[in-house]
Amino acid sequence: MSEKPSNLPVNSDRLWGTILETATFGATPKGGVRRLTLSQEDRKVRDWFKAACEAAGCTVTVDALGNMFALRPGRDPSRAPIGLGSHLDTQPTGGKFDGILGTLAALEVVRTLNDAGIETEAPLCVANWTNEEGSRFAPAMMGSAAFVGDFTVENILGRKDAEGVTVKEALEAIGYVGAAPVGSQPFEAFVELHIEQGPILEAESKTIGVVEHGQGIVWYDGHITGFESHAGSTPMPLRRDALATFSQIVLAVEAIARKHGPDAVGTVGEVTIANPSRNVIPGEVNFTCEFRSPHAEILKSLETDFAAAVAEIAAGRKGVTVEIEQVWRKDPTHFDPKVIGAIREAAEGLGYSNRPMVSGAGHDAFNLATRMPVAMIFVPCKDGLSHNELEDATQADCTAGANVLLHTVLSLAGVANAA
Ligand SMILES: [Zn+2]
Repeated sequence: MSEKPSNLPVNSDRLWGTILETATFGATPKGGVRRLTLSQEDRKVRDWFKAACEAAGCTVTVDALGNMFALRPGRDPSRAPIGLGSHLDTQPTGGKFDGILGTLAALEVVRTLNDAGIETEAPLCVANWTNEEGSRFAPAMMGSAAFVGDFTVENILGRKDAEGVTVKEALEAIGYVGAAPVGSQPFEAFVELHIEQGPILEAESKTIGVVEHGQGIVWYDGHITGFESHAGSTPMPLRRDALATFSQIVLAVEAIARKHGPDAVGTVGEVTIANPSRNVIPGEVNFTCEFRSPHAEILKSLETDFAAAVAEIAAGRKGVTVEIEQVWRKDPTHFDPKVIGAIREAAEGLGYSNRPMVSGAGHDAFNLATRMPVAMIFVPCKDGLSHNELEDATQADCTAGANVLLHTVLSLAGVANAA
């Protein structure tokens, strides 16, 4: 095995060109992208991506949930491929970089290796995961979740969007029901490049985040039952006010997350009053709540404290009941030391400033990490802004991320020959 070409860079302008070109599929007036999963815009970018991968010499397969895999052969076909990629779907008012950078940088890695005449020992496999965003169909990250067996394929195919269209119907409508069984694509390891979607790298003027952990998450649905009665004639001591009870819970969530900070966050993101009226005391309130932490023991404490706070608040409210149901729980993700090490070495070798990081957002890589060695690379995004049309990242930072991806992949796959 020859020496790896230690400073080989990706083609920065070509990478940037693909980001701008694919941003036309679902472009919004404010410069963002609206490309809901399995929509016609998603079909367009998928067709583009498939053609680009095939033109780069890859064989593209699609599985029964529309997950796409572009295989570049290696010298040693007995090894499973090193996976790289992310997602091409966006939020309803999303940006040009979330997920897209990781997928297009993976394509750029293949193109760069082709140009340099480099064959790797292990094959490479560029992936585009279906419905990472979760805005059209729940759950988010469903393609990778089913891939690792968290959901059955039938379960996912039956999920409906707001119009009642199922995943199965949406896949058929855009021609992306693939023949490959979900979960059948082998990977030796997986590397996902992504924008940070947070403010840390930018604030510290660091170029590369070496992501070592992903936050654990608990989701709750809450239901408060009081009693609807006249806002004018019900004296204060006799009220069974569901909304006033809810307000205590919101403040408790904030206090609990602060108490376990800085590595804990808690959010009440949705609330509905069942029959809102300005002169009726709210009798029924439904809400959601979530907590996140990268530490398993903190996540457990958040759960315990939340349950205790809810019980205490309910006990102090005569005639009001509070039910909370935990609807989802994911333990913190700890990425693979070998893949983390390869990313750090690649960043160091290329002279990029870097720091270890925790991912605040969820990613396909978290799902994959339950089945294979995985880690992630972050690059800065402007003002930490994401899931927004104004999401922005510089060409230099995107290129740096792609270069680190290239050299991480080379280190994991091994170089068979260098021109
Ligand atoms: Zn993403």
